[in-house]
Amino acid sequence: AKRAGRNCARFYLPAMNQALDTRMALESALRLALSSNSLALHYQPKVRLSDGALVGAEALLRWWHPQHGQVPPDTFIPMAEECGLVNALDAWVLEAACAQLASWREQGVAIQAVAVNVSPTRFQQDDVAAHVHSLLQKHDLRAEQITLEMTERLLLEHETRTVDQLNQLHSMGVRLSIDDFGTGYSSLSYLKRLPVSELKLDKSFVRDLETDADDRALSSAVIGIGRALGLAVVAEGVETEGQRRVLIEAGCEIAQGYFFARPQSAQDLQAWLKLR
Ligand code: C2E
Ligand code: CA
Ligand code: CA
Ligand code: CA
Repeated sequence: AKRAGRNCARFYLPAMNQALDTRMALESALRLALSSNSLALHYQPKVRLSDGALVGAEALLRWWHPQHGQVPPDTFIPMAEECGLVNALDAWVLEAACAQLASWREQGVAIQAVAVNVSPTRFQQDDVAAHVHSLLQKHDLRAEQITLEMTERLLLEHETRTVDQLNQLHSMGVRLSIDDFGTGYSSLSYLKRLPVSELKLDKSFVRDLETDADDRALSSAVIGIGRALGLAVVAEGVETEGQRRVLIEAGCEIAQGYFFARPQSAQDLQAWLKLR
């Protein structure tokens, strides 16, 4: 606990020092958030580049802190990871996303698939396959409706336990996606050893696609690897028509980004769908 507490401190932002001053404070703030409706999911459409058809939505966690307002996930997720709280958050997200899928089905809304982000630590401590299985039964969902997005970093740690669970999930039919592909710790051999269905081309490669020949070459290479292995490739962070065009030329089929839609509440997403 001492070690986790010290690691935690690395992620402090000056503005948050007072409220999130100790591991205990963060824990109780987050626990309060879990029980007081200050956590919510936003959903960002994944669309087919050729015709704009919706293929699913990624659930992204939002936290409204009573003093600090909306805290960005890039701030609180790494803190929660270091403090061992992220598993509870990810479990909440999975449950909320499955409940939302069932609710969309009941309302006749044509959103058939959700992707949720799963932190590396979840596979070390929880039985994710069992959790997903029970949620599929509870909400009468098909496994193919769920995609788990994982960063490459996950694959380095506690490999046996993680790989066992990924294989179980894969045999159930759950889709696995490698998030932020190409950044950081990537190793192509993971793609051989793991039951992956999808690669997400990181938005850092997409941002300058129109002007940067290197980014264009790297993006094409990632798309080529995905296609050669029969994986879906999803480009993240598409903001312009020009980026969209370059991605289509490179053979990319699915994308997310502000050009199509921002992450938004379930209700706003339903309204967005109706307007199209
Ligand atoms: P990510 O999984 O790579 O998610 C993509 C991020 O890009 C999201 O940031 C999204 O809002 C943002 N984005 C989408 N379209 C665009 C665009 O066109 N341009 C730009 N510049 N950005 C775009 P967000 O929602 O702030 O989430 C940040 C990160 O926090 C996520 O990155 C993910 O790693 C983590 N995260 C979010 N929700 C969860 C969660 O429920 N569990 C876990 N473990 N991590 C989460
Ligand atoms: Ca993601
Ligand atoms: Ca990313
Ligand atoms: Ca990320």
